[in-house]
Amino acid sequence: AEMTSLHVFEELESEVRSYCRSFRTVFSKASNDKLWDVAGREYIDFFAGAGALNYGHNNERIRQKLVQYLLEDGITHSLDMATKAKEDFLIRFQEVILKPRGLQYKVMFPGPTGTNAVESAMKIARKVTGRETVLCFTNAFHGMSLGSLSVTGNKFKRKGAGVALNHSVFMPYDGYFGVDTDTVAYMEKLLDDPGSGVPLPAAVIVETVQGEGGLNVASVPWLKRLEKLCDQRGILLIIDDVQMGCGRTGTFFSFDEAGIRPDIVCLSKSIGGYGLPMALTLIKPELDVWAPGEHNGTFRGNNLAFIAATEALSYWETDAFSVEVIRKAKRVRTFLEEQVKLYPQLQGEVRGKGFIQGIAFADAKKAGLLCEAAFKRRVIMETSGPDSEVAKLMPPLTIDHEVLDLGLQRVSDSMKELAA
Ligand code: PMP
Repeated sequence: AEMTSLHVFEELESEVRSYCRSFRTVFSKASNDKLWDVAGREYIDFFAGAGALNYGHNNERIRQKLVQYLLEDGITHSLDMATKAKEDFLIRFQEVILKPRGLQYKVMFPGPTGTNAVESAMKIARKVTGRETVLCFTNAFHGMSLGSLSVTGNKFKRKGAGVALNHSVFMPYDGYFGVDTDTVAYMEKLLDDPGSGVPLPAAVIVETVQGEGGLNVASVPWLKRLEKLCDQRGILLIIDDVQMGCGRTGTFFSFDEAGIRPDIVCLSKSIGGYGLPMALTLIKPELDVWAPGEHNGTFRGNNLAFIAATEALSYWETDAFSVEVIRKAKRVRTFLEEQVKLYPQLQGEVRGKGFIQGIAFADAKKAGLLCEAAFKRRVIMETSGPDSEVAKLMPPLTIDHEVLDLGLQRVSDSMKELAA
């Protein structure tokens, strides 16, 4: 049953709209881990703006900074002019994120979205190496522009382009053939065999956990070996940390645990702190080859996002936040493992890493049905995976413990309904 009238959207908005079809109501307010609709109904957020709201809705600390900045006539839009807000962000990012890790990157602002970060990374890799191909992985998701879509392994999204995309080479992600196949050895063999037809690529682009692709997790040893594979052949390693970065896996960068040093890192979504559009491309200094203006974009200078992003970095000044996130993540993992054991007939398998966890169902339909049942109980969560077979739990990292427990209780009630 329709909860709130959506006829304005049906009449005036393009058919491509999608989330409003699953979450059939009109939302008007939100605070940290909750949303409200125009009828005043309260929802628990296990979606976090597809990863753009790791610090919750209207995060109080960030809001105060934004309000103060607006009241003081702070610059809002500035292309890539030098502004105080950007200066503060650059300094804080160095001090809180890069320096403690011993990482040396030049920071580039490629445009407002994750897709822009990916697109710029692919362009730089091609320019630096003089090679065309970007090697990518099964079930990867990197964006919707023609370049980023060409390295996205999702049949439905690729259909959106209508005709053939740029040629890219897809390799099996870690675990694609099951646990017994060494996919790095497979890649090495193909790359080193001139008869394989696989060209030496400019770059490898990879997510440490495939968020859209079904919560497939690359192991730490796999990532290390992938880095080595790249190093040995002069291939640039691009980590797309758009969804897994900014704390989703429990550490600021999702590759912190692997201890690798990617040549290029793409960040977006929660880097803007408050759900404000912002993206970063981090490049090793020797890759800083573009002449001034060789890559540009009107919305590289969203100063409200810089203000929010700078404040959000405070969460990473000590380990306390990370410890807290990992604690909550374990709670979710344990809960989901209990659930799949409780209902073996649902044939679910728990997947994920850190604070992005979900259940993959043998019968893909069940993931969508679980999300529907949860929405009926006022929990917002979405599916992922090539057949939308994974029900994905991705709350704001700042979710209250009680709200988390209440949300999990509702998911448990939804599982019960599904099993009945
Ligand atoms: N890369 C990854 C890993 C993503 O998850 C996404 C968005 N889901 C993107 C790139 C594209 O980001 P955006 O939608 O902001 O362009």
